[in-house]
Amino acid sequence: MEPSVCGEDDIVRWFEDVTEKAGSVQTQTLRRILELNFEVEYLKKWLGDIEIQEVDACLLESLYTSLVPLASHADLEPYIHRIANGESGPILTKQPITTLSLSSGTTEGRQKYVPFMRHSSQTTLQIFRLAAAYRSRVYPTRGGGRILEFIYSSRQFKTKGGLTAGTATTHYYASPEFKIKQEKTKSFTCSPEEVISSGDSKQSTYCHLLLGLFFSEQVEFITSTFAYSIVQSFIAFEELWKELCIDIRDGTLSKRINLPKVRKAVLDIISPNPILASKIEACCEELEDLDWFGLIPKLWPNAKYVYSIMTGSMQPYLKKLRRYAAEVPLVSAEYGSTESWIGVNVDPCLPPEEVTFAVVPTFSYFEFIPLHRQKQDYNLVIDDFIEDKPVPMSQVKVGQEYEIVLTTFTGLYRYRLGDVVEVAGFHNGTPKLNFICRRKLILTVNIDKNTEKDLQMVVERGSQLLSKSKAELIDFTSHADVLTQPGHYIIYWEIKGEVEERVLGECCREMDASFVDHGYVVSRRSNSIGPLELRIVEKGTFKKILEYFIGNGSALSQFKTPRCTSNKVLLSILNLCTTKRVYSTAYAN
Ligand code: AMP
Repeated sequence: MEPSVCGEDDIVRWFEDVTEKAGSVQTQTLRRILELNFEVEYLKKWLGDIEIQEVDACLLESLYTSLVPLASHADLEPYIHRIANGESGPILTKQPITTLSLSSGTTEGRQKYVPFMRHSSQTTLQIFRLAAAYRSRVYPTRGGGRILEFIYSSRQFKTKGGLTAGTATTHYYASPEFKIKQEKTKSFTCSPEEVISSGDSKQSTYCHLLLGLFFSEQVEFITSTFAYSIVQSFIAFEELWKELCIDIRDGTLSKRINLPKVRKAVLDIISPNPILASKIEACCEELEDLDWFGLIPKLWPNAKYVYSIMTGSMQPYLKKLRRYAAEVPLVSAEYGSTESWIGVNVDPCLPPEEVTFAVVPTFSYFEFIPLHRQKQDYNLVIDDFIEDKPVPMSQVKVGQEYEIVLTTFTGLYRYRLGDVVEVAGFHNGTPKLNFICRRKLILTVNIDKNTEKDLQMVVERGSQLLSKSKAELIDFTSHADVLTQPGHYIIYWEIKGEVEERVLGECCREMDASFVDHGYVVSRRSNSIGPLELRIVEKGTFKKILEYFIGNGSALSQFKTPRCTSNKVLLSILNLCTTKRVYSTAYAN
């Protein structure tokens, strides 16, 4: 049955079925993509005039992978550029492309556009419903309930050629599929469309919180795209709760909301509720004494879980999220990108640290480039991996790391996504992936190579020492300073609470000693990398960084604090906000 029209059990049955025969489903998926698009300019260039219909699906798969080269975004950019400029012929897809999405990352400093089609919204609906079906088996929710969703649309705009452009989530929230999802899953977002698309993230957050509290009894779960948004919203709540209580008591709306459309939409929903306001006030007074531990169950007593992307670069927010959630389970959400959805979490009860993603074999045609880590290659400084020939999904091996390659229904052919995953096991015949990192995000001075994950572990070790001072890490980033000699790593921390310099020194030393990468250890011993520097930045610095990104057109729902940066503007914000510097004494003798 078509997964878009079936019920919860049917969608799981459908997934079980397609994953049983994942290898042949992939072959057929590629065939469908090519049948839809074989006459387009890009494919013609590589495939010539092959009569696709005449070729058997397996042969087509091997012809395709041998004739069409692997491509990066930079290779496809000229084609996408022509589409953006209004050329309407079949360049990448036969069906005209009317919408472009902004993916995270850049291509040589330029924003990265990828085609967006109806298919993109349909697969979004499909994966959300599939994930919801798996979740409801473990954490059933009441039909007709509400969802407190910290979601944000950014601005849609027109390209030179008149195409609509914006983030994929923005397009999705504006699509019929977003409404269908609410009806099908019988759960409705607390906030109206005007709040989601206000364009002012602070005002949206205030309204999300207000409406979430107004409907608090009905809220079945709390969610956002990335866990970062939930944490940020509750940090804001710690400051805003008194004002929110006034609005709930009187049925009014704070002056900070000055967008007329948003004011009207919210005021049409709320009405004075003094009993609820007093209840929330009492809870907040208690919570303040507990440093907001257990905020979620206290204020949303019927919330069954918190649901968001918590893997990859979101892991550092887990600690704070766990404090807010207390006993409410954290459920890690799906894995995907603007280019294509990839995998679903079929084990929602697993803690986020152990979550894997079962690849949905109908969404795109997936290939995997085996990556082998180099231990002793002193020439490769940026990216430590040696690549093998790409393999189809049916040939991946457990324990092996790969870079994902996509062929999508939206005109990307053998497109390197740049994400590194590890095959952790299988769900029937489809691999379950463990997200490792983004490939290029590596902290390096010379022969040392540390991934985002390495840095996270190091920061986790170092920040544990803060608990002695009852302080806590709010956010962090890093930079490899190669301008001074010897080069060294700088880690920037924003912390809550007062910490003595001596403790900061210990944290710094601990972090320096926790980088286990062989190249780093060797270089530190020989002083070809200088002592790690810890810079403490003032409160609100990471908010400034977020605002800088948003001011440059990023969407709050997509924003991820860069864990390593060489961006001049970011570095100047960080350096201007630095209040203390300490250097590691590890490797001192
Ligand atoms: P964007 O194109 O801006 O939507 O970003 C997509 C990227 O976000 C992916 O390529 C991953 O690097 C990251 N990402 C998306 N989903 C997850 C997830 N569940 N876990 C970890 N990282 C993710």
